[in-house]
Amino acid sequence: HLTVNQGVACSSQARGASKAMEIFHRFFLFLRLLLLTEKAGRDILKAMKTWKELLPSSLRDATSRSEGGSGAAERSLALPLGEQSPQVTEKARLPPRGSWQARQGLTEGVLIQKEKTMKKVILTGDRPTGRLHVGHYVGSLKERVRLQNSGEYDEIYVMIADAQALTDNADNPEKVRQNILQVALDYLACGIDPAKTHIFIQSMVPELTELSFYYMNLVTVSRLQRNPTVKSEIQMRNFETSIPVGFFCYPISQAADITAFKATTVPAGEDQKPMIEQCCEIVHKFNSVYGDTLVEPEIVLPQNAACLRLPGIDGKAKMSKSLGNCIYLSDEPEDIKKKIMSMYTDPGHLRVQDPGKVEGNPVFTYLDAFSRPEHFAEFLPEYQNLDELKAHYQRGGLGDVKIKKFLNSVMQAELEPIRTRRKEWELRLPEVVEILKAGSAVAEKTAAATLADVRKSMKIDYFEDDNLLK
Ligand code: ATP
Ligand code: MG
Repeated sequence: HLTVNQGVACSSQARGASKAMEIFHRFFLFLRLLLLTEKAGRDILKAMKTWKELLPSSLRDATSRSEGGSGAAERSLALPLGEQSPQVTEKARLPPRGSWQARQGLTEGVLIQKEKTMKKVILTGDRPTGRLHVGHYVGSLKERVRLQNSGEYDEIYVMIADAQALTDNADNPEKVRQNILQVALDYLACGIDPAKTHIFIQSMVPELTELSFYYMNLVTVSRLQRNPTVKSEIQMRNFETSIPVGFFCYPISQAADITAFKATTVPAGEDQKPMIEQCCEIVHKFNSVYGDTLVEPEIVLPQNAACLRLPGIDGKAKMSKSLGNCIYLSDEPEDIKKKIMSMYTDPGHLRVQDPGKVEGNPVFTYLDAFSRPEHFAEFLPEYQNLDELKAHYQRGGLGDVKIKKFLNSVMQAELEPIRTRRKEWELRLPEVVEILKAGSAVAEKTAAATLADVRKSMKIDYFEDDNLLK
Protein backbone atom coordinates (compact mmCIF):
# COMPACT_ATOMS: atom_id res chain seq x y z
CA HIS A 1 0.00 0.00 0.00
CA LEU A 2 1.25 3.44 -0.87
CA THR A 3 0.75 6.48 1.22
CA VAL A 4 -0.56 9.60 -0.52
CA ASN A 5 2.89 11.17 -0.41
CA GLN A 6 4.51 8.01 -1.69
CA GLY A 7 1.86 7.90 -4.47
CA VAL A 8 2.57 11.51 -5.53
CA ALA A 9 6.29 10.87 -5.42
CA CYS A 10 5.85 7.70 -7.40
CA SER A 11 3.71 9.21 -10.11
CA SER A 12 6.14 12.15 -10.48
CA GLN A 13 9.01 9.61 -10.69
CA ALA A 14 7.10 7.73 -13.39
CA ARG A 15 6.49 10.98 -15.30
CA GLY A 16 10.20 11.84 -14.99
CA ALA A 17 11.14 8.39 -16.27
CA SER A 18 8.79 8.58 -19.24
CA LYS A 19 10.14 12.08 -20.07
CA ALA A 20 13.70 10.71 -19.97
CA MET A 21 12.61 7.83 -22.20
CA GLU A 22 11.11 10.27 -24.66
CA ILE A 23 14.26 12.42 -24.76
CA PHE A 24 16.38 9.28 -25.21
CA HIS A 25 14.07 8.07 -27.97
CA ARG A 26 14.28 11.40 -29.77
CA PHE A 27 18.06 11.46 -29.41
CA PHE A 28 18.22 7.93 -30.79
CA LEU A 29 16.06 8.93 -33.76
CA PHE A 30 18.29 11.96 -34.40
CA LEU A 31 21.39 9.75 -34.25
CA ARG A 32 19.91 7.31 -36.78
CA LEU A 33 18.97 10.17 -39.05
CA LEU A 34 22.51 11.52 -38.84
CA LEU A 35 24.01 8.15 -39.68
CA LEU A 36 21.57 7.68 -42.55
CA THR A 37 22.34 11.12 -44.07
CA GLU A 38 26.05 10.52 -43.72
CA LYS A 39 25.73 7.17 -45.44
CA ALA A 40 23.58 8.68 -48.19
CA GLY A 41 26.14 11.47 -48.61
CA ARG A 42 28.94 8.94 -48.86
CA ASP A 43 26.94 6.91 -51.40
CA ILE A 44 26.30 10.02 -53.53
CA LEU A 45 30.00 10.96 -53.41
CA LYS A 46 30.96 7.41 -54.37
CA ALA A 47 28.53 7.43 -57.31
CA MET A 48 29.84 10.81 -58.49
CA LYS A 49 33.42 9.56 -58.35
CA THR A 50 32.60 6.46 -60.41
CA TRP A 51 30.70 8.60 -62.89
CA LYS A 52 33.67 10.94 -63.25
CA GLU A 53 36.07 8.07 -63.77
CA LEU A 54 33.99 6.97 -66.75
CA LEU A 55 34.49 10.34 -68.46
CA PRO A 56 37.38 11.10 -70.85
CA SER A 57 40.16 13.09 -69.14
CA SER A 58 39.41 16.42 -70.86
CA LEU A 59 35.78 16.34 -69.67
CA ARG A 60 36.88 15.17 -66.24
CA ASP A 61 39.04 18.31 -65.87
CA ALA A 62 36.17 20.47 -67.00
CA THR A 63 33.77 18.91 -64.49
CA SER A 64 36.15 19.28 -61.57
CA ARG A 65 36.45 22.95 -62.55
CA SER A 66 32.73 23.46 -62.73
CA GLU A 67 32.14 21.60 -59.47
CA GLY A 68 34.34 24.17 -57.76
CA GLY A 69 36.57 21.25 -56.88
CA SER A 70 40.31 21.05 -56.65
CA GLY A 71 41.31 22.11 -60.21
CA ALA A 72 44.35 24.34 -60.19
CA ALA A 73 42.92 25.84 -63.38
CA GLU A 74 40.36 27.75 -61.30
CA ARG A 75 43.15 29.60 -59.66
CA SER A 76 44.70 30.62 -62.97
CA LEU A 77 41.91 33.13 -63.52
CA ALA A 78 43.14 35.02 -60.52
CA LEU A 79 46.89 34.54 -60.56
CA PRO A 80 49.65 34.76 -63.16
CA LEU A 81 51.02 31.38 -64.06
CA GLY A 82 54.23 31.73 -62.10
CA GLU A 83 52.26 32.07 -58.87
CA GLN A 84 49.99 29.10 -59.37
CA SER A 85 50.13 26.42 -56.79
CA PRO A 86 49.06 22.87 -57.54
CA GLN A 87 47.50 22.68 -54.06
CA VAL A 88 44.41 24.84 -53.85
CA THR A 89 43.85 25.78 -50.25
CA GLU A 90 40.57 27.09 -48.81
CA LYS A 91 42.16 30.54 -48.60
CA ALA A 92 43.05 30.38 -52.27
CA ARG A 93 39.37 29.99 -53.11
CA LEU A 94 38.73 33.55 -51.97
CA PRO A 95 39.09 36.40 -54.48
CA PRO A 96 42.66 37.78 -54.41
CA ARG A 97 43.03 41.16 -52.75
CA GLY A 98 42.78 44.01 -55.20
CA SER A 99 41.26 41.86 -57.94
CA TRP A 100 38.02 42.94 -59.58
CA GLN A 101 36.26 40.13 -57.76
CA ALA A 102 37.42 41.48 -54.41
CA ARG A 103 36.69 45.08 -55.38
CA GLN A 104 33.18 44.17 -56.39
CA GLY A 105 32.77 42.32 -53.11
CA LEU A 106 32.03 39.01 -54.77
CA THR A 107 31.70 36.15 -52.36
CA GLU A 108 33.25 32.78 -52.87
CA GLY A 109 29.96 31.26 -54.01
CA VAL A 110 29.31 33.94 -56.61
CA LEU A 111 32.91 33.62 -57.72
CA ILE A 112 32.59 29.88 -58.30
CA GLN A 113 29.36 30.52 -60.19
CA LYS A 114 31.13 33.12 -62.35
CA GLU A 115 34.10 30.84 -63.02
CA LYS A 116 31.72 28.12 -64.12
CA THR A 117 30.45 30.24 -66.97
CA MET A 118 33.71 32.02 -67.73
CA LYS A 119 35.78 30.77 -70.64
CA LYS A 120 39.56 30.85 -70.54
CA VAL A 121 40.66 33.06 -73.41
CA ILE A 122 44.08 34.31 -74.52
CA LEU A 123 44.65 37.52 -76.45
CA THR A 124 48.09 38.77 -77.29
CA GLY A 125 49.91 40.32 -80.22
CA ASP A 126 52.75 42.26 -81.78
CA ARG A 127 53.18 45.40 -83.82
CA PRO A 128 54.22 44.76 -87.44
CA THR A 129 57.03 47.32 -87.26
CA GLY A 130 59.68 44.74 -88.15
CA ARG A 131 60.43 41.04 -88.04
CA LEU A 132 60.25 39.48 -84.59
CA HIS A 133 63.39 39.23 -82.49
CA VAL A 134 64.69 37.00 -79.72
CA GLY A 135 63.25 39.45 -77.12
CA HIS A 136 59.77 38.65 -78.43
CA TYR A 137 60.66 34.98 -78.42
CA VAL A 138 61.69 34.67 -74.76
CA GLY A 139 59.40 37.48 -73.55
CA SER A 140 56.17 36.29 -75.05
CA LEU A 141 56.21 33.88 -78.02
CA LYS A 142 57.63 30.90 -76.12
CA GLU A 143 55.02 31.28 -73.38
CA ARG A 144 52.23 31.60 -75.96
CA VAL A 145 53.22 28.36 -77.61
CA ARG A 146 53.39 26.62 -74.22
CA LEU A 147 49.92 27.89 -73.23
CA GLN A 148 48.54 27.05 -76.68
CA ASN A 149 49.71 23.46 -76.33
CA SER A 150 48.60 23.11 -72.71
CA GLY A 151 45.03 22.52 -73.90
CA GLU A 152 43.76 24.64 -70.99
CA TYR A 153 42.34 27.46 -73.06
CA ASP A 154 38.96 27.62 -74.74
CA GLU A 155 39.97 30.25 -77.29
CA ILE A 156 43.30 31.75 -78.34
CA TYR A 157 43.75 34.89 -80.45
CA VAL A 158 47.06 36.33 -81.63
CA MET A 159 46.82 39.75 -83.22
CA ILE A 160 49.09 41.51 -85.66
CA ALA A 161 48.57 45.06 -84.37
CA ASP A 162 48.85 47.07 -87.59
CA ALA A 163 46.51 49.87 -86.44
CA GLN A 164 48.64 50.32 -83.34
CA ALA A 165 51.83 50.27 -85.43
CA LEU A 166 50.39 53.11 -87.54
CA THR A 167 50.04 55.32 -84.45
CA ASP A 168 53.77 56.07 -84.64
CA ASN A 169 54.33 55.15 -88.28
CA ALA A 170 51.50 57.08 -89.94
CA ASP A 171 53.87 58.35 -92.64
CA ASN A 172 55.18 54.87 -93.40
CA PRO A 173 52.23 52.54 -94.04
CA GLU A 174 54.39 50.54 -96.44
CA LYS A 175 56.64 49.44 -93.56
CA VAL A 176 53.61 48.20 -91.63
CA ARG A 177 52.18 46.47 -94.71
CA GLN A 178 55.47 44.70 -95.49
CA ASN A 179 55.78 43.38 -91.97
CA ILE A 180 52.32 41.79 -91.68
CA LEU A 181 53.50 38.65 -93.45
CA GLN A 182 56.91 38.77 -91.77
CA VAL A 183 55.30 38.66 -88.32
CA ALA A 184 52.89 35.92 -89.43
CA LEU A 185 55.88 33.87 -90.67
CA ASP A 186 57.66 34.37 -87.34
CA TYR A 187 54.57 33.13 -85.49
CA LEU A 188 54.27 30.00 -87.58
CA ALA A 189 58.04 29.39 -87.31
CA CYS A 190 57.87 29.51 -83.49
CA GLY A 191 55.05 27.00 -83.32
CA ILE A 192 51.86 29.09 -83.21
CA ASP A 193 49.46 26.57 -84.69
CA PRO A 194 46.57 27.97 -86.79
CA ALA A 195 44.52 24.89 -85.90
CA LYS A 196 44.56 25.99 -82.25
CA THR A 197 45.11 29.76 -82.48
CA HIS A 198 43.30 32.41 -84.50
CA ILE A 199 45.95 34.68 -86.02
CA PHE A 200 44.33 37.90 -87.20
CA ILE A 201 45.05 41.44 -88.38
CA GLN A 202 43.84 44.22 -86.07
CA SER A 203 42.50 46.61 -88.74
CA MET A 204 40.46 43.80 -90.28
CA VAL A 205 38.30 43.89 -87.13
CA PRO A 206 36.75 47.39 -87.20
CA GLU A 207 34.71 46.64 -84.05
CA LEU A 208 37.93 47.26 -82.10
CA THR A 209 37.97 50.90 -83.22
CA GLU A 210 34.39 51.47 -82.10
CA LEU A 211 35.08 49.95 -78.70
CA SER A 212 38.14 52.21 -78.32
CA PHE A 213 35.98 55.23 -79.02
CA TYR A 214 33.56 54.38 -76.20
CA TYR A 215 36.39 53.56 -73.77
CA MET A 216 38.00 56.96 -74.42
CA ASN A 217 35.24 58.50 -72.33
CA LEU A 218 36.31 56.45 -69.33
CA VAL A 219 39.98 57.54 -69.23
CA THR A 220 41.45 60.93 -68.34
CA VAL A 221 44.32 62.62 -70.16
CA SER A 222 46.32 62.79 -66.93
CA ARG A 223 45.91 59.03 -66.38
CA LEU A 224 47.31 58.37 -69.85
CA GLN A 225 50.19 60.73 -69.16
CA ARG A 226 51.05 58.72 -66.06
CA ASN A 227 51.37 55.41 -67.96
CA PRO A 228 55.10 54.66 -67.57
CA THR A 229 55.41 52.65 -70.80
CA VAL A 230 53.80 55.42 -72.85
CA LYS A 231 56.04 57.94 -71.09
CA SER A 232 59.26 56.09 -71.94
CA GLU A 233 58.13 55.35 -75.48
CA ILE A 234 57.36 59.03 -76.08
CA GLN A 235 60.86 59.83 -74.90
CA MET A 236 62.41 57.08 -77.01
CA ARG A 237 60.66 58.38 -80.15
CA ASN A 238 61.59 62.01 -79.42
CA PHE A 239 57.95 63.03 -79.74
CA GLU A 240 58.29 65.75 -77.08
CA THR A 241 55.25 67.98 -77.64
CA SER A 242 54.28 66.58 -81.04
CA ILE A 243 52.77 63.34 -79.77
CA PRO A 244 50.19 61.95 -82.23
CA VAL A 245 46.81 61.65 -80.46
CA GLY A 246 46.48 58.09 -81.75
CA PHE A 247 49.79 57.09 -80.17
CA PHE A 248 48.91 58.75 -76.89
CA CYS A 249 45.66 56.78 -76.79
CA TYR A 250 47.07 53.40 -77.76
CA PRO A 251 46.67 51.94 -74.24
CA ILE A 252 42.92 52.52 -74.70
CA SER A 253 42.91 50.79 -78.06
CA GLN A 254 44.87 47.94 -76.49
CA ALA A 255 42.16 47.65 -73.82
CA ALA A 256 39.63 47.37 -76.64
CA ASP A 257 41.69 44.59 -78.27
CA ILE A 258 41.83 42.59 -75.04
CA THR A 259 38.25 43.07 -73.89
CA ALA A 260 36.73 42.47 -77.33
CA PHE A 261 37.69 38.82 -76.90
CA LYS A 262 36.81 38.75 -73.20
CA ALA A 263 40.41 37.67 -72.70
CA THR A 264 41.30 36.30 -69.29
CA THR A 265 45.02 35.89 -70.03
CA VAL A 266 47.58 38.05 -71.83
CA PRO A 267 51.04 36.48 -72.21
CA ALA A 268 53.40 39.45 -72.73
CA GLY A 269 56.69 41.04 -71.73
CA GLU A 270 57.13 43.20 -68.64
CA ASP A 271 56.68 46.47 -70.56
CA GLN A 272 53.03 45.50 -71.02
CA LYS A 273 52.25 45.48 -67.28
CA PRO A 274 51.11 49.14 -67.15
CA MET A 275 48.93 48.48 -70.23
CA ILE A 276 47.15 45.59 -68.57
CA GLU A 277 46.69 47.66 -65.40
CA GLN A 278 45.13 50.44 -67.45
CA CYS A 279 42.93 47.92 -69.24
CA CYS A 280 41.70 46.56 -65.89
CA GLU A 281 40.82 50.08 -64.78
CA ILE A 282 38.77 50.59 -67.95
CA VAL A 283 36.97 47.28 -67.42
CA HIS A 284 36.22 48.16 -63.81
CA LYS A 285 34.96 51.61 -64.73
CA PHE A 286 32.83 50.27 -67.59
CA ASN A 287 31.29 47.54 -65.45
CA SER A 288 30.52 49.88 -62.58
CA VAL A 289 28.95 52.53 -64.83
CA TYR A 290 27.06 50.31 -67.31
CA GLY A 291 26.78 46.98 -65.48
CA ASP A 292 28.81 43.78 -65.55
CA THR A 293 29.83 43.33 -69.21
CA LEU A 294 33.59 43.15 -69.68
CA VAL A 295 36.14 40.68 -68.35
CA GLU A 296 39.27 41.78 -66.51
CA PRO A 297 42.45 40.18 -67.93
CA GLU A 298 45.61 38.96 -66.22
CA ILE A 299 49.12 39.27 -67.65
CA VAL A 300 51.26 36.13 -67.83
CA LEU A 301 54.92 37.10 -67.63
CA PRO A 302 57.82 34.78 -68.47
CA GLN A 303 58.88 32.70 -65.46
CA ASN A 304 62.60 33.38 -66.11
CA ALA A 305 63.52 36.88 -64.82
CA ALA A 306 66.08 37.40 -67.62
CA CYS A 307 63.27 37.12 -70.17
CA LEU A 308 61.05 39.84 -68.70
CA ARG A 309 62.82 42.54 -70.70
CA LEU A 310 65.68 41.20 -72.78
CA PRO A 311 68.30 43.95 -73.34
CA GLY A 312 69.51 44.88 -76.80
CA ILE A 313 72.89 43.77 -78.14
CA ASP A 314 74.02 47.37 -77.49
CA GLY A 315 73.32 46.92 -73.76
CA LYS A 316 70.27 49.22 -73.88
CA ALA A 317 67.51 48.27 -71.47
CA LYS A 318 65.27 46.67 -74.11
CA MET A 319 65.79 44.87 -77.37
CA SER A 320 63.35 46.68 -79.63
CA LYS A 321 62.62 46.81 -83.33
CA SER A 322 62.54 50.59 -83.15
CA LEU A 323 66.00 50.76 -81.57
CA GLY A 324 67.69 48.52 -84.16
CA ASN A 325 69.53 46.50 -81.49
CA CYS A 326 68.00 43.12 -82.22
CA ILE A 327 68.86 39.56 -83.11
CA TYR A 328 65.98 38.54 -85.37
CA LEU A 329 64.46 35.08 -85.44
CA SER A 330 65.03 35.06 -89.19
CA ASP A 331 68.70 36.14 -89.03
CA GLU A 332 71.15 33.88 -90.88
CA PRO A 333 73.78 32.04 -88.76
CA GLU A 334 76.60 34.41 -89.87
CA ASP A 335 74.54 37.49 -88.90
CA ILE A 336 73.76 36.02 -85.49
CA LYS A 337 77.47 35.29 -84.93
CA LYS A 338 78.51 38.78 -86.05
CA LYS A 339 75.96 40.41 -83.72
CA ILE A 340 76.95 38.26 -80.74
CA MET A 341 80.67 38.81 -81.23
CA SER A 342 80.07 42.59 -81.32
CA MET A 343 77.89 42.58 -78.21
CA TYR A 344 78.29 45.05 -75.41
CA THR A 345 79.78 43.44 -72.26
CA ASP A 346 81.27 44.83 -69.05
CA PRO A 347 83.23 47.99 -70.06
CA GLY A 348 85.49 47.54 -67.02
CA HIS A 349 86.62 44.08 -68.17
CA LEU A 350 89.49 45.20 -70.39
CA ARG A 351 92.00 42.36 -70.06
CA VAL A 352 91.26 38.65 -69.67
CA GLN A 353 92.70 38.62 -66.14
CA ASP A 354 90.46 41.52 -64.95
CA PRO A 355 87.51 40.60 -62.74
CA GLY A 356 84.27 41.13 -64.67
CA LYS A 357 80.67 42.00 -63.81
CA VAL A 358 77.82 39.68 -64.75
CA GLU A 359 74.99 41.96 -63.58
CA GLY A 360 73.93 44.27 -66.38
CA ASN A 361 76.20 42.37 -68.77
CA PRO A 362 73.92 41.43 -71.69
CA VAL A 363 76.01 38.38 -72.65
CA PHE A 364 75.24 36.83 -69.25
CA THR A 365 71.61 37.98 -69.37
CA TYR A 366 71.28 36.16 -72.72
CA LEU A 367 72.93 33.09 -71.20
CA ASP A 368 70.43 33.28 -68.32
CA ALA A 369 67.62 33.42 -70.88
CA PHE A 370 68.80 30.79 -73.36
CA SER A 371 71.34 28.37 -71.88
CA ARG A 372 70.40 25.02 -70.41
CA PRO A 373 72.64 22.63 -68.40
CA GLU A 374 72.96 20.28 -71.39
CA HIS A 375 74.52 23.10 -73.46
CA PHE A 376 77.58 22.99 -71.18
CA ALA A 377 78.22 19.31 -71.83
CA GLU A 378 77.81 19.94 -75.55
CA PHE A 379 79.64 23.23 -76.11
CA LEU A 380 81.72 24.08 -73.03
CA PRO A 381 82.47 20.89 -71.10
CA GLU A 382 85.10 22.48 -68.81
CA TYR A 383 82.22 24.09 -66.88
CA GLN A 384 79.35 22.22 -65.20
CA ASN A 385 76.84 25.05 -65.33
CA LEU A 386 76.24 28.79 -65.67
CA ASP A 387 77.03 29.51 -62.01
CA GLU A 388 80.56 28.14 -62.47
CA LEU A 389 81.07 30.20 -65.61
CA LYS A 390 79.80 33.35 -63.87
CA ALA A 391 82.05 32.76 -60.87
CA HIS A 392 85.13 32.44 -63.12
CA TYR A 393 84.23 35.66 -64.97
CA GLN A 394 83.79 37.51 -61.70
CA ARG A 395 87.15 36.20 -60.37
CA GLY A 396 88.95 37.24 -63.53
CA GLY A 397 90.80 35.08 -66.05
CA LEU A 398 87.90 34.47 -68.43
CA GLY A 399 87.82 36.42 -71.69
CA ASP A 400 84.74 37.90 -73.41
CA VAL A 401 85.50 36.05 -76.66
CA LYS A 402 85.13 32.68 -74.96
CA ILE A 403 81.73 33.48 -73.41
CA LYS A 404 80.49 35.06 -76.61
CA LYS A 405 81.49 31.96 -78.59
CA PHE A 406 79.58 29.82 -76.10
CA LEU A 407 76.54 32.11 -76.33
CA ASN A 408 76.74 31.88 -80.11
CA SER A 409 76.64 28.05 -80.00
CA VAL A 410 73.66 28.13 -77.61
CA MET A 411 71.68 30.61 -79.69
CA GLN A 412 72.47 28.91 -82.99
CA ALA A 413 71.10 25.66 -81.52
CA GLU A 414 67.89 27.39 -80.34
CA LEU A 415 67.26 29.42 -83.49
CA GLU A 416 68.17 26.86 -86.15
CA PRO A 417 64.86 24.89 -86.08
CA ILE A 418 62.86 28.15 -86.03
CA ARG A 419 64.70 29.46 -89.09
CA THR A 420 64.21 26.17 -90.93
CA ARG A 421 60.44 26.15 -90.25
CA ARG A 422 60.23 29.80 -91.31
CA LYS A 423 61.88 28.97 -94.64
CA GLU A 424 59.34 26.20 -95.21
CA TRP A 425 56.46 28.62 -94.60
CA GLU A 426 58.07 31.24 -96.88
CA LEU A 427 57.37 28.83 -99.75
CA ARG A 428 53.67 28.72 -98.78
CA LEU A 429 52.79 32.42 -98.62
CA PRO A 430 49.29 32.10 -100.19
CA GLU A 431 48.47 29.64 -97.39
CA VAL A 432 49.71 32.15 -94.82
CA VAL A 433 47.35 34.77 -96.26
CA GLU A 434 44.46 32.28 -96.03
CA ILE A 435 45.34 31.65 -92.36
CA LEU A 436 45.18 35.40 -91.67
CA LYS A 437 41.88 35.74 -93.55
CA ALA A 438 40.27 32.87 -91.66
CA GLY A 439 41.62 34.11 -88.30
CA SER A 440 40.38 37.64 -88.97
CA ALA A 441 36.89 36.36 -89.83
CA VAL A 442 36.63 34.46 -86.55
CA ALA A 443 38.06 37.41 -84.61
CA GLU A 444 35.54 39.78 -86.16
CA LYS A 445 32.64 37.53 -85.20
CA THR A 446 33.78 37.39 -81.57
CA ALA A 447 34.45 41.12 -81.38
CA ALA A 448 31.04 41.89 -82.92
CA ALA A 449 29.31 39.84 -80.21
CA THR A 450 31.16 41.78 -77.48
CA LEU A 451 30.37 45.08 -79.19
CA ALA A 452 26.68 44.12 -79.18
CA ASP A 453 26.92 43.44 -75.41
CA VAL A 454 28.67 46.78 -74.89
CA ARG A 455 26.06 48.69 -76.89
CA LYS A 456 23.29 46.97 -74.95
CA SER A 457 24.88 47.80 -71.59
CA MET A 458 25.37 51.40 -72.66
CA LYS A 459 21.75 51.50 -73.89
CA ILE A 460 22.79 52.61 -77.36
CA ASP A 461 21.44 49.53 -79.09
CA TYR A 462 18.47 51.65 -80.23
CA PHE A 463 17.03 49.43 -82.93
CA GLU A 464 17.35 46.27 -80.84
CA ASP A 465 15.52 47.92 -77.99
CA ASP A 466 11.72 47.39 -77.85
CA ASN A 467 11.44 50.10 -75.20
CA LEU A 468 12.78 52.88 -77.44
CA LEU A 469 9.36 54.45 -77.95
CA LYS A 470 8.20 53.99 -74.37
P1 ATP B 1 58.34 48.45 -81.18
O1 ATP B 1 59.75 48.95 -81.00
O2 ATP B 1 57.77 48.72 -82.53
O3 ATP B 1 57.42 48.84 -80.07
P2 ATP B 1 58.89 45.98 -79.88
O4 ATP B 1 60.18 45.35 -80.23
O5 ATP B 1 58.78 46.74 -78.60
O6 ATP B 1 58.46 46.87 -81.11
P3 ATP B 1 56.23 45.01 -79.60
O7 ATP B 1 55.51 44.57 -80.82
O8 ATP B 1 55.94 46.35 -79.04
O9 ATP B 1 57.78 44.88 -79.90
O10 ATP B 1 56.06 43.92 -78.43
C1 ATP B 1 55.40 42.72 -78.61
C2 ATP B 1 55.51 41.81 -77.40
O11 ATP B 1 56.86 41.40 -77.20
C3 ATP B 1 55.08 42.45 -76.10
O12 ATP B 1 54.44 41.47 -75.33
C4 ATP B 1 56.36 42.84 -75.45
O13 ATP B 1 56.24 42.86 -74.04
C5 ATP B 1 57.29 41.71 -75.89
N1 ATP B 1 58.66 42.22 -75.99
C6 ATP B 1 59.12 43.11 -76.87
N2 ATP B 1 60.41 43.36 -76.67
C7 ATP B 1 60.80 42.58 -75.62
C8 ATP B 1 62.03 42.37 -74.94
N3 ATP B 1 63.12 43.01 -75.29
N4 ATP B 1 62.05 41.48 -73.90
C9 ATP B 1 60.94 40.81 -73.54
N5 ATP B 1 59.74 40.97 -74.15
C10 ATP B 1 59.68 41.84 -75.18
MG1 MG C 1 56.86 47.93 -78.15
